[in-house]
Amino acid sequence: MVLRVFRPGISPSLQKIDMSYQVIARKFRPQTFDDIVGQEHVTTTLKNSIASGRAGHAFLFTGIRGVGKTTAARVLAKALNCVNGPTVSPCNVCDACREITAGNSLDVKEIDGASNRGIDSIRELREGVAFAATRDRNKIYIIDEVHMLTTEAFNALLKTLEEPPPHVVFIFATTELHKVPATIASRCQVFEFKRISLQALIEHLGYIASREGIEADPEALRVIAREADGSLRDACSLLDQVISFAGNTIDTAAVSEILRTGSRGSLERLLGAVLQEDAANAFRELSDAVDRGLPPRQVLRDVSRFLSECLRVRLLGPDAARETGLTEQEIGVMIELVSNRTPEHLAALLNLFVTAADRVADSRSPDLLAQAAIVKAARMSAFSSVAGLVDRLEQVASGLPPAPLASPASPPPARPSVVQPVARPVEPVASTRPVPVAAPAPSPAPAGQAAPVAQPDQPAGRRWGSSAAARGSVAEAVARLNQAAGVSAAPAPAPVPAQPVAAAPARNPDSVQQAPAGQPAPAGQQAPAGQPASLADRLMVNPVVNRTIGLFGGDVISVEEDGR
Ligand SMILES: [Zn+2]
Repeated sequence: MVLRVFRPGISPSLQKIDMSYQVIARKFRPQTFDDIVGQEHVTTTLKNSIASGRAGHAFLFTGIRGVGKTTAARVLAKALNCVNGPTVSPCNVCDACREITAGNSLDVKEIDGASNRGIDSIRELREGVAFAATRDRNKIYIIDEVHMLTTEAFNALLKTLEEPPPHVVFIFATTELHKVPATIASRCQVFEFKRISLQALIEHLGYIASREGIEADPEALRVIAREADGSLRDACSLLDQVISFAGNTIDTAAVSEILRTGSRGSLERLLGAVLQEDAANAFRELSDAVDRGLPPRQVLRDVSRFLSECLRVRLLGPDAARETGLTEQEIGVMIELVSNRTPEHLAALLNLFVTAADRVADSRSPDLLAQAAIVKAARMSAFSSVAGLVDRLEQVASGLPPAPLASPASPPPARPSVVQPVARPVEPVASTRPVPVAAPAPSPAPAGQAAPVAQPDQPAGRRWGSSAAARGSVAEAVARLNQAAGVSAAPAPAPVPAQPVAAAPARNPDSVQQAPAGQPAPAGQQAPAGQPASLADRLMVNPVVNRTIGLFGGDVISVEEDGR
């Protein structure tokens, strides 16, 4: 007999298990409370309640797949129905015990909630509940994946749970407790099954190997246990696959071959390169792993898991890693890798890898996505630490000017204050581009010329050598605008002849707003908004303009763009 199993990333020829022997998960299924691995907190409580005669009539077992929920349900059923029972140690030889083990007891019904989720199944159950047990002490219903029941089915079940006949016991199992209605859960004794620790998995695999006469490298068992990710059932089926592939001698090479996991050494190099921001080497390690036949998704999953272990060491210290069965050498490498990295940085990397692994799984170009993810990860710290970014956001939110981005490696360079109190207030006034020269700053005058600018208190007429009353309009406008703009007043320009003045410094057509454009400004009319002071300064810097106005007198009434 050949059992076909499916495991992503394994070639079809390896997806078969020779069934000339019983699969390990069944052969080594615990038959007593004491045999159940890694759930002592559950089995102890169950044993105590049975021993004291206070066992309830409804139990809810919750936890991830393959941690012993259904196994515990069967052991509990035997404990309650054994001819010697109720007992904490069922005999496993009486008819009741043997039938429960074989799954054909008339008084212990196992129902798969996923395939019997409708109201009809529960109606049938309720009808059966009314009758006494056929032979044994209790009528026991084990409903697996109970969260799959429909609302109507749950409602029907609830009525039975509210007033259960004394001989009826319900044992529910679920991987998703949050999907079980509170009305149901609150009527049950809830037991949370834990993910089984790496160490417990390794020990159990070692026990099975020795019982099966298999010579197993402890490191190989650890790779299997790690891959099982807390599930004893997964660990057992992985061991089955490895045995069928490698025979009675199991080493890491065989395990890596069938599980397609990366070696720890290559993971250390890959993550090391990422943490040292060595994108080239990280890229190379990824390519090497893919060339060796590892699917890109598996590489990302492996590095995620390794990084998760590193994060654990970083947060909880080396003792926490020792509890998970890692060797001192492995712990030393991990500490060296991550000791000077912040947990935020490591968590951000972990998030990136896990997200990328999920995306890669759905992608038609998994290798390219994986490459992008690895390089991005190797560049991540260049974006500054998460903590630094949060600080910046808080500063912005509180209205303070944010500090410059700090690289974790280098202190921020000393920078002059970016606040320019003179230039800032100008912006809201000038709707057009601000003139780059700050208004009060004097520009160097041509040799031989009188300093034309930035003497705010000087009467307008004196510098220009003219007494024309008409120029008052511009002078007043300049003063008003300067006041509004918060800059010092500049002298008004002297009157000029009515012809337009070609003004080289006015760089853009918008600047005509800065002076009365194209037409004479009548006396008393307000000048348009802008920065006449600055414009006047700039005009006066031009020796031709300066000389012309000095000779002829008058006001600047128009500025034309010179075509640039
Ligand atoms: Zn028995």
